[in-house]
Amino acid sequence: MTKDEFVLTAGIDLGSTAIKVVLVQGGRMAWQKAVPTAPGQAGIAQKLIGEGLAALGQTSDRLTATAVTGYGKGLIHGAGRVIDEVSANALGICRLSDGRARTVINIGGQDVKVIRLSATGKLIDFKMNDKCAAGTGRFFEAAGRILDTPVERFGPMGEAAVDPVHINNTCAVFAESEIVSLMAAGVATERIIQGLHHSVARRVASLAGHRDLEDDIYLDGGAANNRGLVAAIEDELCRDLHVLSHPQFTVAFGAASAMERPPTY
Ligand code: ADP
Repeated sequence: MTKDEFVLTAGIDLGSTAIKVVLVQGGRMAWQKAVPTAPGQAGIAQKLIGEGLAALGQTSDRLTATAVTGYGKGLIHGAGRVIDEVSANALGICRLSDGRARTVINIGGQDVKVIRLSATGKLIDFKMNDKCAAGTGRFFEAAGRILDTPVERFGPMGEAAVDPVHINNTCAVFAESEIVSLMAAGVATERIIQGLHHSVARRVASLAGHRDLEDDIYLDGGAANNRGLVAAIEDELCRDLHVLSHPQFTVAFGAASAMERPPTY
C-alpha cells in the first residue's frame, strides 16, 4: 500500500432531494450511497458513514477527514471542510475525468447547473436554473406520479420510444395537464416519457448555450442516470456526452477530494 492509499476521507452532499455519502480511498471512490433527503440529515449522514466504513472493513479512527457540501451543508457542525456545491462539482468531475472535463452539466433534484472549470478543477463560471422545477429531477418525479411510473424506469422506457410525442411545456404545472390530455388520448407512456426528456433537453441546451461549450461535455447529478434523458440532450446539443459511473456522487466525491493531495495528470 502506498502512503496515499492509507488516506480515507468522507464526502457528504446534503442535496435538496438526496443525501449522498462517499468514502474516498487513495483518490478513488471506494464506497457510495444515496438516500432520500429527510429530517435529521446530520444523523443520517453519520449513519451512512458508519455503514460505509463497515462495508470497507474499516473503523472510524481510520477516517482522516470529512467534508460537507450541498444545500444542507450548514446543518453539519465540526466537518473538516465545508465547500460550496458548485466548486465541489468542478473538482469532483476534474478528478473523475483525469483532468479532461472543462464543462459539466449537473441535473439534480431542484436545479440545473452548467459549470465551466479549469484543467485543475477550479471553478471558472457557472449558470443555474433554480427558479422552478422545470427541467429538474422534481419535474420528472411529478410526471412519474401522474404516469404511475417511477423515475428509475424513465430511462429504459424513454429509450424504447421510437416516436416521442411533442411536449410543449417544461413548466411542471402546465406539463401535468398536457400529460393528462395525452394519456386520455391513448398515447403510449413510453412516447410521453421520451417527449418529456426532449422538452427538458431543449431547456438544458438553451441554458448551456450550444456554441459556448468547450470540447468534451460531462453530465452528472442524479438525472444523469436516466439514459433516455442523456440521449435526448445529446440530440439537442448535436454532441456526445460523457456520463461517468455513479454520476449522482460527483459532488460528494469532489468535497472529499478537496482534502486530498492533488494528483498530477
Ligand atoms: P440533489 O443533489 O438536488 O438532491 P441529485 O443529484 O441527488 O439531486 O439528483 C436527484 C434526482 O435524481 C432525483 O430527482 C431523482 O429523480 C433523479 N434520479 C436518481 N436516479 C435516477 C434514475 N436512475 N433515473 C432517473 N432519475 C434518477
